[in-house]
Amino acid sequence: MAKFVYDFTEGNRELKDLLGGKGANLAEMTNLGLPVPPGFTITTEACRHYLAEGDVPEGLDREIAEHLSALEATMGKKLGQADDPLLVSVRSGAKFSMPGMMETVLNIGLNDESVYGLAKQAGGNERFAWDSYRRLIQMFGKTVQDIDGDLFEHALDELKGDRQDTDLTADELQRLVKTYKAIVREQTGQDFPADPREQMRLAVMAVFDSWNAPRAILYRRQERIPADLGTAVNICSMVFGNVGEDSGTGVAFTRDPGSGHQGVYGDYLQNAQGEDVVAGIRNTVPLQDLEGIDKSAYDELLAIMEKLENHYRDLCDIEFTVERGKLWMLQTRVGKRTAGAAFRIATQLVDQGLITLDEAVIRVSGDQLAQLMFPRFAKDCARKLIAKGMNASPGAAVGKAVFSSERAIELAAQGEDVILVRRETNPDDLSGMIAARGVLTSRGGKTSHAAVVARGMGKTCVCGAEELEVSVSGKRFTAPGGISVTEGDVISIDGSTGEVFLGEVDVVDSAVVEYFEGAEPDDELVRAVDRIMAHADSVRRLDVRANADNPEDSARARRFGAQGIGLCRTEHMFLGERRQLVEDLVLADSAESRQAALDALEPLQKADFTGIFQAMEGLPVTIRLIDPPLHEFLPDIVDLSVKVATGAATAKDRALLVAVKRLHEMNPMLGLRGVRLGLVIPGLFAMQVRAIADAAREVPGARPEIMIPLVAAVQELEAVREEAAQILANKQVDALIGTMIETPRAALTAGQVAEAAQFFSFGTNDLTQMTWGFSRDDVEAAFFSRYLDLGIFGVSPFETLDRDGVGRLVKLAAAEGRATRADLKLGICGEHGGDPDSVHFCHEVGLDYVSCSPFRIPVARLEAGRAALASDSSDTR
Ligand code: PEP
Ligand code: MG
Repeated sequence: MAKFVYDFTEGNRELKDLLGGKGANLAEMTNLGLPVPPGFTITTEACRHYLAEGDVPEGLDREIAEHLSALEATMGKKLGQADDPLLVSVRSGAKFSMPGMMETVLNIGLNDESVYGLAKQAGGNERFAWDSYRRLIQMFGKTVQDIDGDLFEHALDELKGDRQDTDLTADELQRLVKTYKAIVREQTGQDFPADPREQMRLAVMAVFDSWNAPRAILYRRQERIPADLGTAVNICSMVFGNVGEDSGTGVAFTRDPGSGHQGVYGDYLQNAQGEDVVAGIRNTVPLQDLEGIDKSAYDELLAIMEKLENHYRDLCDIEFTVERGKLWMLQTRVGKRTAGAAFRIATQLVDQGLITLDEAVIRVSGDQLAQLMFPRFAKDCARKLIAKGMNASPGAAVGKAVFSSERAIELAAQGEDVILVRRETNPDDLSGMIAARGVLTSRGGKTSHAAVVARGMGKTCVCGAEELEVSVSGKRFTAPGGISVTEGDVISIDGSTGEVFLGEVDVVDSAVVEYFEGAEPDDELVRAVDRIMAHADSVRRLDVRANADNPEDSARARRFGAQGIGLCRTEHMFLGERRQLVEDLVLADSAESRQAALDALEPLQKADFTGIFQAMEGLPVTIRLIDPPLHEFLPDIVDLSVKVATGAATAKDRALLVAVKRLHEMNPMLGLRGVRLGLVIPGLFAMQVRAIADAAREVPGARPEIMIPLVAAVQELEAVREEAAQILANKQVDALIGTMIETPRAALTAGQVAEAAQFFSFGTNDLTQMTWGFSRDDVEAAFFSRYLDLGIFGVSPFETLDRDGVGRLVKLAAAEGRATRADLKLGICGEHGGDPDSVHFCHEVGLDYVSCSPFRIPVARLEAGRAALASDSSDTR
């Protein structure tokens, strides 16, 4: 029979799929003998059942009741019992951390009677008991009963006036509870549920439901977390950080999540409950200050931090509470970190002997490397520093200041760069943060919502810039020295230093990019990247090539580590001034005029190829014969028609219009492209092959490979191949002749196609387009956001290769192609070649190389290494 509930003593950290990250790690800490308040976890399986069926699975209520009884026995108290109540928290916790995206309800078990029992437990501290009670109603009302949270906030603000929440007296809080209960009655038509078990049951379902809250959906989409995992629910006996000044709550990192350096990092807030820290509601003190506040709790915490880091062999982040001098661990997990810290920590742990270099490569990711290739501010550019906050998430961002998420989204949609400025952010700001280039807050520490979420997204963020007075309603902020910034004024923020500048600061490449460009690795981060890249290169099986079609890009690609060119798109060579020659070619009305156009193009093409062969110095260069969707090359039919209609046209314009009309296609991407064009315009491909051969003869060591695009039938390939092979033989040039596999038919008949091809390169852009029937130019903007919302796919199939559909074709074509020709070389040159997950796929199906744009090459190298190492461990997220 299915088991839906696990006591903390029953689980362990390997059970993240079932118990979620929080539950699995609470169990792990419990089993390590750390002070974790007892509790139990309801599995993600129960959540999935609830979300699918609209009801909890059979047996769950009974299991919860049994575990609750056991918990009551352990604690020697009963849930919500009037004179000595057990209180519990009900917390979400999915497999992958989704900070602040789902619900939590604390203090379950309080009602008009047990509130007095709680006061008694706390040595007669009625203020604390009523504060806990009002928090329960507030959280429960907002998250379980869907009441507008502002109603509670306003009531609290009204009562507080200019005071802090800690200044409220027991009587005032008791009055506030009355007000809150009246709000609940008014909003729901019912009384606040006094029955503790009912409170718990409703809270569990609210946590399940919160998996599908809009902000959670949005976050999953951003972080590529699958939509069907569901969340676990943790029921944990309450400990209180808000009993008085000898209590408090905090978060800690075993290393600085920004730099990776070891030390004591975190925030502490006296007399508060956990959500107060994360929400940045009151200003925290640095964790080191706990030493002066409560030395024994501090020493114990440091010892636990060391134990956890050695146990997890990684940076851990921790949530803890001190209740009247007693330390409790509420959560730990392998902590999120900036990209730079990830590389530094990985190599530091190697040096400490905690992990191997293989593990270090697994511990970092291509996405993190890509983040390190972000730009930063130019050192010598003039700038006006107006404030300094915390360096919460690195990078350099410039944009117009905006003060609401709505405005950020609006301006970003108009193509403006914006910086979202807030006092603090909350989960409702997620979409604004996504739209903005960077985020600036005046309150909250490195663990505030803004910081955690921005780091996760790789978005530049400066937080806690306390000198700034932010007025959201006034759409402005002021900085020391009488500086005032209003909506639309440009500011620049440096997420690596925490600096805020007025106006625009010039941005330059990252040190990591400079290193890839050939600079000596002269700082700690770059040395870490260098070590990890060297190891990734030594273990990877996949070669990495570049998509490049000019000597500059080719040279950069080589510096970035490309082992050849996997896709040189020749149609790119016909843009600009040479467009005219293409027009001439298309317009040609006789064999002579066509030949004249080709003759004019040939020397230009030869020079193009010579430059690329020179830049690649003997590395293979796959040149794809021209594949122009014609509509991209011919003049616009409407413009020409207008010109002709208004009498402004020349004779050539008129002839062009006739040709453009003749060639006009309803579906140009499915029209006269690729090999089809080569077969329709005599001499076009032959001209290119001659130019390639002549260029190769001029550059010693050149290794051309000729690639035919958009083939669907082996017969097409044979027709082109024969002519090409003849030219190569005449000119005594050795070159492989192969094909792209970018139509489903080519994939399905790969066994035949391989008879005429020495290599396959999967053109997964077109293959995705044609497999899904998605116009690659239109659908992403048109309706993908709806598809993502609906969970039809978790990420665009144009970004990450769709393993189930397109991937299946790739696999089949690879196998059947190799069955025909054992030494068939296999590569990929669609955009997916630089996408981490797709690189893993390419490794798994046995391709020989991936090819991607020059800037993605380091990412592909790293991921190819990780894929090789992860072959026997599937989870490398
Ligand atoms: C492809 O289709 O994947 C490809 C690489 O070709 P292009 O993007 O030029 O159509
Ligand atoms: Mg293509």
